[in-house]
Amino acid sequence: MSSYDVVIVGGGPSGAAAAYDLANAGFSVVILDKKNFPRFKPCAGGLTTKALHRLRYSIAPIIRNTTQTMVVGYGTGRQNTLTTQAPICALTVRTELDQFCLEKTLQQGATFEKISGIKSIHQSTDRVTLITKNDQSFECKYLLGADGAHSQVRKLTQEFSPDRTAVALEGIIPFERLNKIPEFTFDFGVVKKGYGWLFPKHDHLNIGLYTRRPDEASLGKSELKLYAQARLGIDNIDHVCGFPIGTGGEFYRPKAERVFLVGDAAGMSEALLGEGIHNAIKSGQAAASAIISTKTSNRSALESFKNDCKPVMEDAHNCRKIARVFYKTLPLAFPALSRYPIGPMAMNGFAAGLTLTECKRHMTRFNISPTVTEPLSLTEYKQISA
Ligand SMILES: Cc1cc2nc3c(=O)[nH]c(=O)nc-3n(C[C@H](O)[C@H](O)[C@H](O)COP(=O)(O)OP(=O)(O)OC[C@H]3O[C@@H](n4cnc5c(N)ncnc54)[C@H](O)[C@@H]3O)c2cc1C
Repeated sequence: MSSYDVVIVGGGPSGAAAAYDLANAGFSVVILDKKNFPRFKPCAGGLTTKALHRLRYSIAPIIRNTTQTMVVGYGTGRQNTLTTQAPICALTVRTELDQFCLEKTLQQGATFEKISGIKSIHQSTDRVTLITKNDQSFECKYLLGADGAHSQVRKLTQEFSPDRTAVALEGIIPFERLNKIPEFTFDFGVVKKGYGWLFPKHDHLNIGLYTRRPDEASLGKSELKLYAQARLGIDNIDHVCGFPIGTGGEFYRPKAERVFLVGDAAGMSEALLGEGIHNAIKSGQAAASAIISTKTSNRSALESFKNDCKPVMEDAHNCRKIARVFYKTLPLAFPALSRYPIGPMAMNGFAAGLTLTECKRHMTRFNISPTVTEPLSLTEYKQISA
């Protein structure tokens, strides 16, 4: 039996972020993943400024592109272009991002082991034991379920049952296939309760569809081809792949003293755009910080975790409320979003590294350009990426 302070199931953004902080604080940590890295994970690889801020290190070597321009469309019809004073998104290839973050984490002293899958999890007052499908045992003081939207840790511990998950589908088009390289684009309404995206990345385009209500929307290869045909005039897309996105984290009420869910396993992605990397990192760091705090505080890790997760849950809650209204009233909401003052306020807020909740606060104060008070200039942006 192998013994650690913390066992983390899943080496994606949430697991790596938690492992990085724990290893840095001197805890013995192992990341268990059913895949060897580098591995493929369906994802458009877009990191907002707030996600870049969250990371403990620069990911400059693997950023393929950054953008200060965002095209927002209504269906495949009219489009408006919004520009921001600083970059709004850094585009990466997800396989490269996760490999890079895992390497940084292993450099801190965490270890990695490929496992066959999880058979069972046993909790006692002071330990947790995880048994893999081929009967390896891992014993730890704390176990983190960072194993994504299909979380096995969540299912085995019954810590949380999300009533609904969002879904996204993506594919790749090499630039040489295109007559014109499109801008960074979100076309709202091409899918029911969702949008289509075009993310240009150095030598290829990542194209995809997102819906927050897969029970209402039809989302498959043929819909993606139709979208590509309408926007790009071609429908030859490589590596088309879909995956659920864990949402509903605002309803997660951690109960177990020694098992915490983070990232998509805990439904931490936001439901408006399906952005998940930021909250995955933030919730992973919250779990790490709760465990680290037990060294110096009498408060239990569970109590600290509940407290530290509140901002992520509040943002998930706000995004869900806004998503519900936004997609329901799209014909009215779209013009508001894509024009002055709401569009620029939101875009400049995101470029400044604000969450949607923080953007909303700025908007209710009618602060048109939060970048004026919280600037993230190009120079500063380059420093993050330096
Ligand atoms: C098509 C698509 C596009 C997206 N685009 C973006 C985007 O541009 N920007 C953004 O912010 N978010 C995006 N998302 C959401 C984002 O991918 C997720 O929110 C994010 O990956 C969640 O990170 P995580 O660490 O919680 O889980 P994951 O990244 O899913 O990592 C889970 C890890 O656990 C491992 N695992 C799973 N089960 C087990 C098991 N039983 N045993 C051991 N290991 C296991 C997996 O192999 C994986 O390595 C997108 C999602 C999809 C589907």
